[in-house]
Amino acid sequence: MGRRFRAWLTLILVLLGVVGFSLYPRRPVEYRSDRFLMDTLVSIKVYGGDDEKLRKAVAEAYAEMQRIADLTNRFPARGTAEHAVSDVCRINDMAGIRPVKVDPDVFAMLEGARAWRPLAGGAFDVTIGPVMDLWGFGGKHPHVPKADELATCLSLVNGDRLLLKRKERTAFLEKAGMGLDLGAVAKGYVTEKAARVLKRNGIEKAIIDAGGTIRVLGKNAEGAPWRIGIKNPASEGGILAVLTLQDSAAATSAGYYRSFDSGRKRFHHILDPGTGYPAMENTSVTVVAKDAGTADILSTALFVLSPEKALETVKKLYGVEVFLVTADGRTLHAKGPAVRSVVQSGVPERHAQSR
Ligand code: AMP
Ligand code: MG
Repeated sequence: MGRRFRAWLTLILVLLGVVGFSLYPRRPVEYRSDRFLMDTLVSIKVYGGDDEKLRKAVAEAYAEMQRIADLTNRFPARGTAEHAVSDVCRINDMAGIRPVKVDPDVFAMLEGARAWRPLAGGAFDVTIGPVMDLWGFGGKHPHVPKADELATCLSLVNGDRLLLKRKERTAFLEKAGMGLDLGAVAKGYVTEKAARVLKRNGIEKAIIDAGGTIRVLGKNAEGAPWRIGIKNPASEGGILAVLTLQDSAAATSAGYYRSFDSGRKRFHHILDPGTGYPAMENTSVTVVAKDAGTADILSTALFVLSPEKALETVKKLYGVEVFLVTADGRTLHAKGPAVRSVVQSGVPERHAQSR
């Protein structure tokens, strides 16, 4: 074989190798980053071709999550910098005194939460703050309150007395002593916001897991829908069902996320505003919806309702699905009609709510 021929052959083989490599479908680069936010471990995983772009997108998403988390934190002590930046602290401090101008995201969150109120009856109420405080949830020493104290606090829970003025972008709790608690809403809203920041940065594949609230963009790295296991509250490590999600969200409300034992009973953090005691008919409620804000609100609201009422409610909601475990051990499932118009925020489109 001549030297020239061998040189040509080598060159052709190298070129074939280069072309072959560039045509071979490569797995996208993965970038993962975890943070402790809103009292939970949040994890964001994004996929794409450019590591730098992925990092920038995730950093921006976390900055937005942190900003809104700070605005809605109701726990910082008076006089601290954290208290001063929190819109929720300001609204609570000014209860019965005057309306407070709030950030557009806080306003949207409050409107979103309020829009679902009629659907859930009185079961879902973001003015539950005073009762949460009385139980001591959020603090180090939760305890069962005295019945008379509970009755007094319950009289302060009334979502109809949260006045929102869109033009002025103000929020006002009409009565002194009232208090907002956005624990049922904020995580979903913030998760949805993060998903939008990622999208705006050109990310097409991502999963955000904010402790019980999950939002996915596109399909997973293998090009299939994301598979998410729902924990079975009855068995340690057991899976109740596997959800397949694509461009959608799932949120789970469950007593096991925050509870304490007193006497021989267990008390958890999702309260029935009708009684002031933990809602006892369900152990776990997972809602799948197009966006994380809706999934978060609905999972809490449905948790408080009776299982039958919860299923009946979901059957009327476009693009919503529920997996429910009742206190007496039944596993129930219901699905609303397929999405006709995409619901993209915590605020439901009124015409899309029912048939
Ligand atoms: P989630 O984990 O999303 O179900 O939210 C539970 C949190 O929502 C609690 O820790 C409280 O901050 C708040 N919460 C409890 N009961 C209610 C209720 N009936 N309506 C609205 N928010 C509630
Ligand atoms: Mg919730």
